[in-house]
Amino acid sequence: MDYFEYHDGKLRCEETAADELAARYGTPLYVYSQQTFTDHFQRMRAAFAELNPLFCFSIKSCQNVHICRVLHSLGSGFDVVSGGELYRALRAGADPAKIVFAGVGKTDRELREAFEARIGLFNIESESELEVFVEMARARQAPVDAALRVNPDVDPRTHKYTTTGKKETKFGVDLEQAAGIFRRHADCRPVRLRGIHLHIGSPVHELEPYRTSIERGVELLEQLRRDGFEVDTIDVGGGYGAHYRGGDAPTAADYAGVIVPLLRGRGLRVILEPGRSIAANAGIILTRVLHVKQSGRKRFVIVDAAMTELLRPALYGAYHFVWPVVAGECVPPTRVPEQPFDGLVECDVVGPVCESSDFLAQARPLPTLRRGDLLAVFGAGAYAMTMASQYNSRLRAAEVLVHGAATRLIRRRETYADLLAPEELESGCPVPFRPPPAADERGGGRT
Ligand SMILES: *Cc1c(COP(=O)(O)O)cnc(C)c1O
Repeated sequence: MDYFEYHDGKLRCEETAADELAARYGTPLYVYSQQTFTDHFQRMRAAFAELNPLFCFSIKSCQNVHICRVLHSLGSGFDVVSGGELYRALRAGADPAKIVFAGVGKTDRELREAFEARIGLFNIESESELEVFVEMARARQAPVDAALRVNPDVDPRTHKYTTTGKKETKFGVDLEQAAGIFRRHADCRPVRLRGIHLHIGSPVHELEPYRTSIERGVELLEQLRRDGFEVDTIDVGGGYGAHYRGGDAPTAADYAGVIVPLLRGRGLRVILEPGRSIAANAGIILTRVLHVKQSGRKRFVIVDAAMTELLRPALYGAYHFVWPVVAGECVPPTRVPEQPFDGLVECDVVGPVCESSDFLAQARPLPTLRRGDLLAVFGAGAYAMTMASQYNSRLRAAEVLVHGAATRLIRRRETYADLLAPEELESGCPVPFRPPPAADERGGGRT
């Protein structure tokens, strides 16, 4: 599942002690395991080998350029959803031919940048976008490949905020409209409308939604072929689950078991866009306990990480396993809330941000905690740092990539100067920072 394990009662990332990382780099801290990224990517590739698909790692799940570089070196391409993500992919050394670009509202500038980079595939999400796209492609007179994102009207039974392939979500075009769009725009040289794109939501812990949506997609492609269109590409998107509770998601082989038979022997180029399934288990957040307090019947463990480092609990009510880094006798056998130890106390683990939704875990049985103790928040490799904010003028945390016993700081902790840098004006505001006067200058230390 991953390389975050307890040895002699202490958490390690690969061969590196987590408490030493916290001491060296400070907290809150994102810690990633390179071997976990590699294993998950290779397992996915092995499971789908028969289709020889193009893997395009979804950058929005985990965007650090050094991590993208690791995935690039394994042969991955990238799924991007903005100009900023395209920039990251290119700076990671990505092969532009292995970049696919989705998004309901690509701006003209973003489209232009992607044209200039000569990316492999544009996933078009509306007829209006296709019209703009064709016009821009004609002005450039360069051939360019596109796929139409189709909404297969499948309920992936995940959180409604991460459902994308059901009717009346903003993504893609309705299945019934797709053939008409091909008919109206098939002759739109230099654009080659080569196929369809499906991405139904995330995380999708059931296999049936994939079966249904791909069946519908394949049926549409076969119909388009009968109508004389030259379509050869199906991008089945991402959404594959991660092990937030330990072994709770289907494996790569389970997903492949459903998807491969539906696509084999059809002469289709297959693209997959995994994000979470590769990254979520590859990262944790290390955070230090600031205070413990009792309020009525509730016990709050206040830590130095917050919704600014991990928004998923506040945004989706998402579950992340939280446990002390130095666990002694209480090494957790699983990552479910219930743990088989005596003397655990039910706690809410909360951050310092001024919102009641600022929690990392609620009603969790935990060993007794004290100020200064270190906690690990598991499953924080995906949609954690990428959703981080500076709310409350908090500094975005550092990221460290571990490879065996070697560690590398891959993003430094932000500074106060970083907070104001975009607000610097030539007119001299903000005023230069001056330390407060020493006590004797203020007259006897009174304020
Ligand atoms: C977010 C996204 C993905 C990745 O989803 P995961 O759940 O992280 O696998 C893939 N494709 C598209 C178009 C996306 O928007």
